[in-house]
Amino acid sequence: MKRISLLLLLYITFGNSVLAQDKDAAQIKKIYDQALTQGKAYDWLNYLSNQIGGRLSGSVQAQQAVEYTKSQLDSLGLDRVWLQPVKVPKWVRGTPEFAYFETSPGLSTNVNICALGGSVATPLGGLKAGVVEVQGIEELEALGKEKIEGKIVFFNRPMDPTLISTFAAYSGCVDQRYSGAEEAAKYGAVGVIVRSMNLRIDNFPHTGSMGYGDTPVSKRIPAAAISTKGVELLSTTLKLNSETKFYFKQNCKQFNDVESFNVIGEIRGAEFPNEIMVIGGHLDSWDLGDGSHDDGAGCVQSMDVLRLLKTTGYKPKRTIRVVLFMNEENGLRGGNKYAEIAKGKNEKHVFALESDAGGFTPRGFSFDCSDENLKQVHSWKSLFEPYYIHLFEKGFSGADIRPLKDDGIVLAGLRPDSQRYFEHHHSENDTFEHVNKRELELGAASMASLVYLFDKYGVVTSAK
Ligand SMILES: [Zn+2]
Repeated sequence: MKRISLLLLLYITFGNSVLAQDKDAAQIKKIYDQALTQGKAYDWLNYLSNQIGGRLSGSVQAQQAVEYTKSQLDSLGLDRVWLQPVKVPKWVRGTPEFAYFETSPGLSTNVNICALGGSVATPLGGLKAGVVEVQGIEELEALGKEKIEGKIVFFNRPMDPTLISTFAAYSGCVDQRYSGAEEAAKYGAVGVIVRSMNLRIDNFPHTGSMGYGDTPVSKRIPAAAISTKGVELLSTTLKLNSETKFYFKQNCKQFNDVESFNVIGEIRGAEFPNEIMVIGGHLDSWDLGDGSHDDGAGCVQSMDVLRLLKTTGYKPKRTIRVVLFMNEENGLRGGNKYAEIAKGKNEKHVFALESDAGGFTPRGFSFDCSDENLKQVHSWKSLFEPYYIHLFEKGFSGADIRPLKDDGIVLAGLRPDSQRYFEHHHSENDTFEHVNKRELELGAASMASLVYLFDKYGVVTSAK
């Protein structure tokens, strides 16, 4: 008798959870099927990339992207779609940059460069000076003013190819791009050229943001990225002839801030409308390519998450909000503004997910959350296995959602395969044809599945 009731109890407990797992597996299958057969992400990306193009903050294209994505969200029958005003910086590249190095008068080799975002222009006729090659800011400090004054500093620390996460390799180098000019100016350098953040040797220079810190305007020196092929040529030449000079010309310019917008749409939660879950990417991009991977992909995937939940008949308990953030690349104004307004209105954000690592095959997610929350995610592992989604680890979520961080929220980032990302990132090579339709759709489906699970079961809150 006792034995029978124990069996019954076991059956009820595990039977129910098996049933719930089956239901979840069926819902997730529906999401993936829908994404792979009726997905909208690829069409939206096609328009953003090929009809609009690069969407640098403050540009006409950025405004067109705001209008286009709003109109598409309007067409999805969400409960609310709106624009959130935000002032953004406006930096303009101007005419294409030009550069060469010269081993003796009249004997020169052209190399591809691009101004770093936020850089000042060179003098009208360009800038020519001797070159000091360094591996990083520490070496610059060791050389000191005597060796640096009047020179162009050439930062040439490559991304570490032994790191499997190319984002880790990027993090190990990006200080020379961001702070190189500020640091070199302290020692009297007249300009800075930086090795492009790219693991491959090719002809594309890669831009990205840089800052001058407290450097007075009159002391700011121009900074450019040089293609990895140009870097290798220059570095070899300098070893043969240390008197080699470098010439570059750029006429970029910083204007006053202009008004732009975050684009937002939401499905109101049926049970807990005051609990908000955000899914997003950034709508602005650099200007050299069309910003397909960075971060058109993240935007269209996030838009499709809401559509996937709707078309598979799922009624969210919580409010699911898509946010297309403006100005991640050179200011993060959109992410900061969104968090500022959310906090001002006392909105309760329980979860945020960002896709800003390219539109490649998804591998999983990284989480900025408590151990309990990560355990909760691990309990869903088997549901993701059929889709080869296996990476669930602690780590960075996304730049735009990070300002929402507090004790209770779960922040997450989609983690696609990163091996090819830095061949495209911030360069002319970030274009639509490099995004694979199925890979993009698998990312959207993975995101929608995670959102579904967190909405259905809620975010576990730790007893404090
Ligand atoms: Zn990005």
